[in-house]
Amino acid sequence: MTSRELSITRLRDTLRHPTLYFANGDLVVSAESSDGSGMQLFRVHTVILAQHSPVFGDMLAIPAGPDGRETYDGAHVVRFPDTAEDVEKLFSVFYNPGFPLFKRSDSDFAVDVYGLMRIATKYQIDSICRAVKHHLECEWPHTVEELVRLHNDLKVAISRPLQSSPKPDHTAYKLFPEPASAIRLATDFDVPSILPAAYYILSTIAIEDTWDSTVNLGLHPLRRRARFELLGDAELVRYFRGKAKLAREFVAMYKQVLDPAMTKLIYVDIEEDEVINRCDYQQECGTALASIEGAIDEGHRESFEGAVWDSMHADPLMALHNVAHLGALEEQLCFSCVYLVIRTIGQFQKKMWDDLPKTFNLVSDS
Ligand SMILES: [Zn+2]
Repeated sequence: MTSRELSITRLRDTLRHPTLYFANGDLVVSAESSDGSGMQLFRVHTVILAQHSPVFGDMLAIPAGPDGRETYDGAHVVRFPDTAEDVEKLFSVFYNPGFPLFKRSDSDFAVDVYGLMRIATKYQIDSICRAVKHHLECEWPHTVEELVRLHNDLKVAISRPLQSSPKPDHTAYKLFPEPASAIRLATDFDVPSILPAAYYILSTIAIEDTWDSTVNLGLHPLRRRARFELLGDAELVRYFRGKAKLAREFVAMYKQVLDPAMTKLIYVDIEEDEVINRCDYQQECGTALASIEGAIDEGHRESFEGAVWDSMHADPLMALHNVAHLGALEEQLCFSCVYLVIRTIGQFQKKMWDDLPKTFNLVSDS
């Protein structure tokens, strides 16, 4: 036995991976566990590695030095500087078609896939990077309509167990993709398209609602949590500033759509350049709008204003959606006014959504 062989066989507590150690493999890859518990050995095939990654191809083609290569169990050994956990995920993708990474609405996705993305990026395995980015982009809404759909899906999912049990399910937040880990992944690996939606949803979560918090979340089963600990200072500044800005915009918007002056507006269709409608009941509709605004104010004044908002799980886009779906609108206003209010709310929602990159300071300076 040569001294090179001995150096690794001495590590008797070294673990062969239970499934990723193929007897006919021509290459042994060793990597340290991240918790310092020891070394893991994978026995794989050079040809498979080289096929997936140009970096592996170059690395494994380097001829052995004068001492020859380190060997183990009759195969050449390559020591990877990456963690055994990352290497395990990478080889799992190579050897298990459909490796179960891409579940829908998986709140752990961004956490589970982070190590894989790190090692795939490092070794330039574009197919994995593309698949992760694609899945992330599919999971996050790109329009107000998609946001509303996501919210409604969650409500349906929550209401099912509620029908059979009077106890609300406080784990419903796990049915949603989790925004803080998604922001971490998207920021570190360049998937900017999901950031506006992820920051928006993050801003609807109170800072104390951390993922592992054992604090009683109260009675609202829709209340979500986030892994705030994964965010750095820059991301947290975006969260706080964006949340405050959205609160101010929302208050201005809902006051405007429920302003009695709405009855006097003449809606001009820009494309047709003609007057579409005008309220014939300005007195009645004006009074109704004022009372609807008053009722909302009464119920939500505290949560819409100042510091209290900051600690709330306030969701201004859904709040506007809810105003547009108030039964009182159709019951108390004329058709023209309802049309105008709902249309205006739709325009405000679109503006709020389109402004999210600015709201969360995601626009590059260039
Ligand atoms: Zn009217």
